[in-house]
Amino acid sequence: MDKIFYKTELCIGSGSLEELRRFHKESVFVVADPFLKTSGQLDSILAYLDESNDRVVFTDIVPDPPIETVVAGIQATQGREISLVLSIGGGSAIDAAKAMYYFAKKQGLFKDAIMVAIPTTSGTGSEVTDFSVITDAQKGTKYPLVTREILPDLAILDADLVLSLPPNITADTGMDVLTHAIEAYVSTKASDFSDALAEKAIKLVFEYLPRAYQNGQDIEAREKMHAASTLAGMAFNTASLGLNHGVAHAAGAKFHVPHGRLNSILMPHIIQYNANLNPRDRRQMNKDVAKRYQDIARLIGYQASSPALGVRQLIEAVKRLQKQLDMPASLSAYGISRMDFDTDKEQIAHAALLDGCTVTNPRVPTVSDILGILESAF
Ligand code: NAD
Repeated sequence: MDKIFYKTELCIGSGSLEELRRFHKESVFVVADPFLKTSGQLDSILAYLDESNDRVVFTDIVPDPPIETVVAGIQATQGREISLVLSIGGGSAIDAAKAMYYFAKKQGLFKDAIMVAIPTTSGTGSEVTDFSVITDAQKGTKYPLVTREILPDLAILDADLVLSLPPNITADTGMDVLTHAIEAYVSTKASDFSDALAEKAIKLVFEYLPRAYQNGQDIEAREKMHAASTLAGMAFNTASLGLNHGVAHAAGAKFHVPHGRLNSILMPHIIQYNANLNPRDRRQMNKDVAKRYQDIARLIGYQASSPALGVRQLIEAVKRLQKQLDMPASLSAYGISRMDFDTDKEQIAHAALLDGCTVTNPRVPTVSDILGILESAF
């Protein structure tokens, strides 16, 4: 038996920030991205909360938030009885807020608090997932905290908030959406339900991400990418992810490449590995997995007349999208040195194998397989 649970109420579209007016006399803990503070967007959003609400604002968020940020956030509330955690920002701010919410509750704080998320990137889907990715900077590892307890109660999806994203972050976060959807689609836990969500997200990314990248003010493209991000989040929240994310978590903590960019670099190599497509010997091909990639290739307009061709065409499509978005195609092109790569690769391969996302990868990897993938991505 499978159980699927969608808890988060979604308010979608222009004007959805009005939903914040429903809250009165709350003790609000606002966890927001620092960019929003300096750009003035945070004040405009908080203006929707009426004056009966008391608030503490925490904006010391850094990308890939470390444990120290989670501790500092909880401390900033100084033991106040928080009734509403309002997270506003990209995955880093929302994940940090989710972890603060979780650990504060464990300490007997934030007892009856609810969780609201307002994403300002179109990437992680964190507003609808029970994942929070926290970095242990000392150990050089990222830990996905996975529990239903951190699923937001309400998410507000207003694409006006992503109009300020620069092209490089639009590209990185957009490729994260694609990775979520493709990994959910080939996951060992994929179902008809997650497939439907992933398929729609994949189509939207191929159609609208280049437009959002070329013209950040294209509100239709922004709205579609914002929806794609949440759809992909809903897909992987039931189907989970795979080795692409397992490696990205492990390598991201070492190399500090933006999460979506790292996923993008790894994606063609992971697809190749999962399908086990060897041009010299087709017999080894993982046919069931290759068929799933063939379905995706067809979805985005290729004829993909055989599973092997489908895999190749999907890889081509991903590489073409990377080019359209001016993204690096390898770790070395991003600027990782051979020396740093060689120093960390073994540790990354071991950490990737233990990462929770790797469990649902359609092909069971070994450390030496992961080293091979890393080498080809270098
Ligand atoms: P991010 O939150 O780190 O933000 C990236 C950059 O964008 C930051 O510099 C930020 O200041 C800036 N930014 C945010 N909103 C902006 C806006 N509207 N305009 C201009 N700049 C803006 O990036 P992200 O990709 O959204 O999140 C990445 C994090 O999320 C990683 O830690 C990753 O591991 C995690 N993650 C979580 C999940 C999940 O389900 N919880 C899924 C995937 C990734």
